[in-house]
Amino acid sequence: MTGQAMVRWSAFVDESRAQAGIEARRYGVPPTMIEAAIERRSAGDWRGACAAADVECFFDPEMIRRRCGAEVASALLDDLRTLAPDLLRWHLPRYAHGSGRLLAGLLVPLAGYDGAGTGLTLAAATPGLALKAGERIVLTLLETGSSGARSGADAGGNAVLQAVRRRGAERYDLRSYRMFWNAACAMGLRELCGDAVGGAAILRLQDEGRAAEAWTAAGFDVTLGSSRTTPEEQRRLARWLSSLPVNLPGLAQRVSDELPAADEAVIRCGSGALVLSGLNGGTTAVEVATSRSVRARGTVLPEIPYAVWSRPLDADLFRLGLVETRDLHPLVGAAIADSAAERAEPSGWRYSTESGIEAQYADTVSAGAGNAVVLVRCGADLHRVVRVEGRWQPIDHDDHPARESLIQRLGGPVSPCRAVAQHLGSGRHVIDAVARFLDHGRVAEAARLLERHGDSGTAPGDFVLTDGVTVGERLADLREHTLRLWMTRAGTPPVRDVQGSRAAIPAWGYPDLRFQKTRSSRLKRITRRSRKGESARLKKHR
Ligand SMILES: [Zn+2]
Repeated sequence: MTGQAMVRWSAFVDESRAQAGIEARRYGVPPTMIEAAIERRSAGDWRGACAAADVECFFDPEMIRRRCGAEVASALLDDLRTLAPDLLRWHLPRYAHGSGRLLAGLLVPLAGYDGAGTGLTLAAATPGLALKAGERIVLTLLETGSSGARSGADAGGNAVLQAVRRRGAERYDLRSYRMFWNAACAMGLRELCGDAVGGAAILRLQDEGRAAEAWTAAGFDVTLGSSRTTPEEQRRLARWLSSLPVNLPGLAQRVSDELPAADEAVIRCGSGALVLSGLNGGTTAVEVATSRSVRARGTVLPEIPYAVWSRPLDADLFRLGLVETRDLHPLVGAAIADSAAERAEPSGWRYSTESGIEAQYADTVSAGAGNAVVLVRCGADLHRVVRVEGRWQPIDHDDHPARESLIQRLGGPVSPCRAVAQHLGSGRHVIDAVARFLDHGRVAEAARLLERHGDSGTAPGDFVLTDGVTVGERLADLREHTLRLWMTRAGTPPVRDVQGSRAAIPAWGYPDLRFQKTRSSRLKRITRRSRKGESARLKKHR
């Protein structure tokens, strides 16, 4: 059980970053998605695996065979067969706050291929048009030839490249770090998180916020700013340095492997920059600076990719006791923990995000089939709150419920168990979980939750989310943007207002076009009117 008392924070993994990471994993890459993707991948169906993980492939390998030859095409296909799109989704860079959604506008190189006259790069992208369609990820190909870098010469690929920051591609380069997307290389994560000689001591200094000492222990001469830097500015730089999750053991070697020609290279993160020098032997030094001051020097330094310098977040969440192996992607759990990962029950784990609830799957057997039990921290003890016949009840209190609710009405204290039972009884936790799933585009999981927990009097589409939008409206929005994305992939640029223009919608590829065509202004009315149909549509969506 992961009790709050066990958590010891680290200077570079604050609560907000940890929470965003946990939410992203829990709601963005749920076990059902991972299982479906693994099943398709094991069957040799890479396209099916991508579809299961909401990864859209924007190129045709057959066309690559014609354009770049059989050798390049077969190397590409080999990589696509070992691509774990769910693992890619798990590891793609995310916002370090809030619900931890995918960073927008990224272009992440995954693998490179040299052909006759042209080079190809397989890349993952997060253009806004794909994220709006339920946090979808796009796989695209970049072609490097005599005419410079361009996409696979198709309209869909070009639309993606226009919507991402190509200049940032080197920052997120994973070509040498396949453990973040390739199932066959996933165990390589263990080496990245491994305990190098002296690693534990360095990590302890980093945890305690003594970053400069940690860098010194890792063999770097540290300079905070330049001779003109004020003491106040130095303190600010030191604080920024402490917050960076740098993977110090083996850093200089990894940078040399990645950028063999560079004697100087830079780590950029937010407003700060670290300039590493002496990489080609001699004394390795690091200068802590601001991005602005580094830019002002005029020399363009190669940027060290994030995967090379940063500590994998999963390793720290696991080390700090914030997740267990069963909370992790099986390939990640197998790499960073010693035992094979065992997954949480998909229906169980959501309760542990509720405040006051410590765990959820203890003692489910004695509570009877179909009933749920949560453990609540009640004073010094852990108490059980059980759902029996649809009602949540504290069972470790002798007080009669009526007596306790009378005390509460009279302004007396309510026990943590009673508070949790009331909260769960209101069903708000289900709606909150549905909203989080929909934020991450996980429609099937949201629908399943509503079907299982929604009360029979309310159609799933009528539930109102925290922002005042109904589930039905949110689904319609996701469908509209998915249709736009698929039209872009097909090379048919969507007109500005898909909903308002029936002519723009092709009669293929979408399961429920009738619902899709609804005009925005009528959407709300129709959503409310067609309550009966909504339940069926929810089921049909996947
Ligand atoms: Zn209690």
